[in-house]
Amino acid sequence: MDIHKNGRKTIFANPDYFTGKVWQEPIVTAPEPARVRAVNVTFAPGARTNWHTHPLGQTLHVTSGEGRACVWGGEIQVIRPGDTVWIPPGEKHWHGAGPETAIVHVAIHEALDGKHIDWLEPVTDEQYAG
Ligand code: MN
Repeated sequence: MDIHKNGRKTIFANPDYFTGKVWQEPIVTAPEPARVRAVNVTFAPGARTNWHTHPLGQTLHVTSGEGRACVWGGEIQVIRPGDTVWIPPGEKHWHGAGPETAIVHVAIHEALDGKHIDWLEPVTDEQYAG
């Protein structure tokens, strides 16, 4: 058993894959053969992921603030604390903060062949504005 004590290092998200300020605190990156990963992610107002997909899907659970999530070709959805979002494998989407509100969500996903995400192009300001 490993107990990871509070106070683990905060990681700024790679700006190649995000717009705006985003930071992450790992919850679990389980060693093989486990493949679950969970991370607490904070988005500053206006910040969001690039478009992306997850090979085995993803669950988002919102813990504070107010944000947005959107599937390719769909309407932008408002997400709030207590909401849980399931994104099926391969579904192109983005998630992030509201224009004037930060959001914090837990992201839970499984890796396939060591990979849990496939990054695509940035979400433009026009797409983010809906
Ligand atoms: Mn995602």
